[in-house]
Amino acid sequence: MWSQGGVTDEDRLSRAQARTVIGRVFKMAAPFRKTMYVAFACVCVTTLCALAGPLLVRRGIDLGIRGKDPTSLNISVGIYLLVALVAYVFGRAQFLYLNRTGESFLRVLRLAVFRQMQRQSMEFYDRNKAGVLVARMTADIESMAELVQWGLLQFLAAGMLIVFALVLLATLSWQLTIVALLVMPILIAASVKFQRDSNKAYLTVRDRVGANLSALQEGITTVRVIQAYAQEEETIRKFTKSNRELFKSHEHSVRVSTWYFALIEFGGVFASALIIGIGGWLVHRGDVTLGTVVAFTLLLSSLFDPVQQLSQLYNTVQSAGAALNKLFQILDAKPEVDEHPGAVALPTSGELVVDGIDFTYSGAENRALQSVSISVGVGEKLALVGPTGAGKSTLAKLMARLYDPQVGSVSYGGIDLKMATMSSLRERIVVVPQEGFLFNGTIRDNLRIARSSATDEEIDGAIAAIGATEHFATLPDGLDSEVRERGSRLSAGERQLVALARAALVDPAVLVLDEATSNLDPGTEAEVEHALERLMAGRTVIVVAHRLSTVQRADHIAVIADAQVAEYGTHAELIAKGGRYSALATAWQKSQVTN
Ligand code: ADP
Repeated sequence: MWSQGGVTDEDRLSRAQARTVIGRVFKMAAPFRKTMYVAFACVCVTTLCALAGPLLVRRGIDLGIRGKDPTSLNISVGIYLLVALVAYVFGRAQFLYLNRTGESFLRVLRLAVFRQMQRQSMEFYDRNKAGVLVARMTADIESMAELVQWGLLQFLAAGMLIVFALVLLATLSWQLTIVALLVMPILIAASVKFQRDSNKAYLTVRDRVGANLSALQEGITTVRVIQAYAQEEETIRKFTKSNRELFKSHEHSVRVSTWYFALIEFGGVFASALIIGIGGWLVHRGDVTLGTVVAFTLLLSSLFDPVQQLSQLYNTVQSAGAALNKLFQILDAKPEVDEHPGAVALPTSGELVVDGIDFTYSGAENRALQSVSISVGVGEKLALVGPTGAGKSTLAKLMARLYDPQVGSVSYGGIDLKMATMSSLRERIVVVPQEGFLFNGTIRDNLRIARSSATDEEIDGAIAAIGATEHFATLPDGLDSEVRERGSRLSAGERQLVALARAALVDPAVLVLDEATSNLDPGTEAEVEHALERLMAGRTVIVVAHRLSTVQRADHIAVIADAQVAEYGTHAELIAKGGRYSALATAWQKSQVTN
């Protein structure tokens, strides 16, 4: 029905999709249905008031002025004032109630989407980049805010006004209604064209705003490199171009609106002129009264204004529908890694067994792991080594069920991790990432991420368990020191210590560690090493190792290469074998000597 030029599927809803979206909106809006009904009733009253005005004018003219009956005139004027008052009160109420319904809906929707995002597993975040998700929560919800704040009201009121006005016109005089309707086809054709053009213009503006923003962002984030290579002029040229395109698209969109509004305005005047001309003749013939003609010209705006409003609103409704559709897709995404019905708690201790797993990241072409089998006994330390991109981190993640394998299984104490309760899984197996990520708040708050119910004593205990009590005591407020956003006030080593203390607080049977590749300063390095050693003691450990010292401390070493286990054994065995590991160990040793 409409042109598709430059419009992506994402921005368009098919009829079926639109129906589903509307159905779901009503379901989600169920809790505030009462407010909705009140709002709707208010809209009805205001609309009726808007139509009553011209009728009272008609009465005043026909009975009061032409009929020379002052009482009728006074009554008409009196009621007119009363109606205006009622319209004022209900006009305010309809706005308040509709706004409340809309904002409540957005609140519920925002929470539902956020809750859903928090539940999702890693796989979801591989598919959906953080920036896109933030856009869903902000831009997409924002595009609905416009609709909710005033659009919905206008939409309802305009629709109702058109229908009521038409009925009223037809009952007043069918002859004049035909005259008024003569202008309608032009009006409707113009509206359809405007809606098409302005929608295209709107989408172009949106694209250009996006392009301009990325040009801006790129220019700022890469400024160091740009200046280092003296490429400022080139970047400015790029930005100038996208800026000019944005300007042009805005200009175009304004041009699209101006001709339309001018045409509608003209159409209105033209129709009024016709009504007065033909109406005058009909009055002369005695077919209609003078009051009817005046009421007609007044009512014409009740017919023309809403058509114009509806076509303007069309885009708002369209983009809100598309935004909702995208949000519902997120709401429908089932977490890949989720608790199965009938899940059981993992035993307190057991062997971790990887049995014949294949794993491919969603959207990736190659397998990240292929036919991998390996087991780690209770209290055993396994080091994973190998070239970058071989699959070490992937294997470690699967061993903690951050992902599920497509083929094969990972089990602990004889229970498939897929059949374990999420709470027992996260208690038994803890992953310590390479970078200790910190949230806003104190160090204590940051440890409580691991276990929200932990007491101060337990937190002190966890810090003591990794031997970092003295270190944190040197901070101005000790464990109550604020770490600023993303932990910029703590050193890299201190962040690592917090990450390790978090793990100590959970006190898991199995630790999965991704060793940091970058070196810390020697002082903190020793402290982190010491903390690690204490944390690892007595636990089953799987470590993605980048240092010879870590590997040498492991009971077993698995060399991962090309998504498979290439070698497996103890340090001594693998050195004796003279394969990949021994080559790697020699290389590490050399680099340590040269360091
Ligand atoms: P390693 O830890 O040995 O350096 P990884 O396990 O990180 O290797 O990666 C193994 C392979 O999987 C690589 O080819 C990598 O590009 C790919 N990969 C890793 N993470 C993802 C991801 N989130 N999405 C898609 N591919 C990934």
